[in-house]
Amino acid sequence: MSHKGIKYRLYDNGADIKQRLFVLNILTMQIVLVVTLIEILITDKFSLDAMLLFAMMLSILFAGIVSVKSGHIRLGALFIATILSFGYFPVTFFKGGGINGDAPLWFIYNIFFVGILLSGKVKYLFLSAQVLSAVACYVTGYLKPEWIVPNTDLMAHVYSLTALILISIAISSMIGLEIRLFIRENKLSEERKKEIEALNASQNRFFSSMSHEIRTPINTIIGLNEMILREDISDEVAEDAVNIRSAGTMLLNLINDILDMSKVQSGKMVIAEEPYSIGNMLSEIVGMLWNRANEKKLEFHVNVAPDIPYELIGDEIRIKQILLNVLNNSIKYTKEGSVSLSVQCERKDDNNAVIIFTVKDTGIGIKKEDIPYLFTAFKRVDENETRHIEGTGLGLSIVKQFLDLMGGKVNVNSIYTQGSTFIIEIPQKINGDKLIGDVDFEKSRTIAKLKEYHQKFEAPDARVLVVDDNELNLMVTSKLLRGTKVKIDCVSSGEEALKKTLNVPYNVILLDHLMPEMDGIECIRKIRSQIGGLCRECSIVALTANTGEENKALYVKEGFDGYLLKPVTGETLENEVLRHIPQELVHVIGDSQEILEETISWMRSKQIKKKVIVTTESVADIPDELIEKYNIPILPHKVSTPEGLFKDGSEIDTRGVLSYMEDKEHTIKPQAPNVKEHEDFFASQLNRANNLVHMSISSKVENSGCPKAIEAARAFNNVTVIDTGHLSSGQGLMVVEACKL
Ligand code: ADP
Repeated sequence: MSHKGIKYRLYDNGADIKQRLFVLNILTMQIVLVVTLIEILITDKFSLDAMLLFAMMLSILFAGIVSVKSGHIRLGALFIATILSFGYFPVTFFKGGGINGDAPLWFIYNIFFVGILLSGKVKYLFLSAQVLSAVACYVTGYLKPEWIVPNTDLMAHVYSLTALILISIAISSMIGLEIRLFIRENKLSEERKKEIEALNASQNRFFSSMSHEIRTPINTIIGLNEMILREDISDEVAEDAVNIRSAGTMLLNLINDILDMSKVQSGKMVIAEEPYSIGNMLSEIVGMLWNRANEKKLEFHVNVAPDIPYELIGDEIRIKQILLNVLNNSIKYTKEGSVSLSVQCERKDDNNAVIIFTVKDTGIGIKKEDIPYLFTAFKRVDENETRHIEGTGLGLSIVKQFLDLMGGKVNVNSIYTQGSTFIIEIPQKINGDKLIGDVDFEKSRTIAKLKEYHQKFEAPDARVLVVDDNELNLMVTSKLLRGTKVKIDCVSSGEEALKKTLNVPYNVILLDHLMPEMDGIECIRKIRSQIGGLCRECSIVALTANTGEENKALYVKEGFDGYLLKPVTGETLENEVLRHIPQELVHVIGDSQEILEETISWMRSKQIKKKVIVTTESVADIPDELIEKYNIPILPHKVSTPEGLFKDGSEIDTRGVLSYMEDKEHTIKPQAPNVKEHEDFFASQLNRANNLVHMSISSKVENSGCPKAIEAARAFNNVTVIDTGHLSSGQGLMVVEACKL
């Protein structure tokens, strides 16, 4: 080991910590042995002891070098520990004055050496052997004191002192090195963690900008292709156009899947915990899949147990994604027969349940040996059979990853050529006592029947402004809306948009987000506050290639009235425009006027946003009839009881609170929601309205939610918090008065 070599071996960050400690041990041991040897030579001149010691020194050095060079540290340490424990220790004990010499100190050193450098069973074996060897030496020394060569008084002192100094220096420098290495290692892993985080962040940025960039041309491809399909074209051209559409959709799904994968893998995927109606979710899913199953002439059965809670708390979007993935697969891999979805619920306690979704098909089935690989990314099994069916092999891998994040699981039963059953279990929280009952999926089917492109309306007097820096996008959007005869103006920058909004009272503005110079966010702020502007109150919809929940939340926060993700189909675009233009401007067209009108009014009732809503907290005293009449969203406070925290209103009612208050032994305390809970509440309510007025309990009372509400409202432009200065019935009265206004 050259000098540089030793330094390198001690400090090299890539080297194993055991190796570094081993090198340090060999070095200190060599120093101790050299000093001892010098002592012996001075006192004893050239003796057998000196030769033995010299031989041991050389063998330890040799064993050290060989084991470091060959990478067999453990073997080297074992060899040296054997020499020390069963050679050096007994010899020093008997030749160096027994308990009056330096052997006891060597015993400590040996234990230290083995403790640090060996591991597992061997370590404990050696430690026990060392203790036994020490016991044997001590007992023998006691019974046969004549076997011990006594030291002269002077030598005993000299040996003991030098061993004491050298061994304590050796031990403390080893501990010192260990601590130093530990700190270095820690710093290094912190740095690596930061590097990985930065890498992850840039990977995420890369994927989202990739998605943005790819969506823009796909928007053109899918949009213009849709225009071709609407024309009177030959069968051959129509077939080509349909193939383009399915290739475009597949490319889009691939991008979405890759984005999801990258999010899950970088730990950025957060599972939401929000109340949702499982019935509505299932209706939407049925609505989306009904057509596909119909096109393939497959029967599609839905069976939902009536005892499922009406409202659950969880991540509706991810659950929908999971079910759509598995159901789409079933339709995709089934040529004839049926696909069915059944939903059941297993209650764990009053607040928790496991929802069991079973998707069954009579399709091509999966070979037994392929089942373990179903959930592997990019893995498509049974490629001979499935080669001609479009797919990427990412869907089920994402399903599995989402389920892992939600604490759920999936099981597959399949008989090859006969069909498959996917059983998905997802634990969810229960919100309230209401049950789903008998759900009628007819409406979803009616709407599904209308999913094929039918122009639903004309509105020649409605005015729409489209703002996008990409000329092709402008062309696609205006072509897709052409059939509706709405008057469309297209501009390619925020500045031009502001010139238009100053003079024209548009009904809807479709606004891109990422544009050079003035982006969509700055533009909406300016339109909303434009002095003399005619569009301050008009509906503004984000029409963007930016995906992701964080972007959606941003648009809600900035007061957009809707969000459309490119590529957008003509139908989605028409529906969105339809829900924002005044009813008197709309002329419904089509064959089945009645169904269309019903659908349109259903869509409007579901989605149209109010200009302003009033919200308050559960501490406000308002009769249920008034809450229902004015549809007042209530943010629950928590009640802290000896049994734990309960949500006021849903988990504990007034009677419950009173019963605690009567009980003199227990104290209960109200607890206002924190800033984050206020923010989440505001964000979810802003899906229903453009502006929100939150009437809070007096800020003067102890534990008031008012300061937290004010803090949370700072994150939104369109949330106003009013300190009512009252509590319970006073606060309630003010809320009702505000609603009447
Ligand atoms: P893909 O995009 O290929 O459909 P998935 O991850 O969704 O990817 O599925 C992986 C593979 O599992 C598919 O390629 C297919 O071979 C098989 N598979 C999935 N669902 C079914 C099903 N219901 N019936 C038969 N095979 C299926």
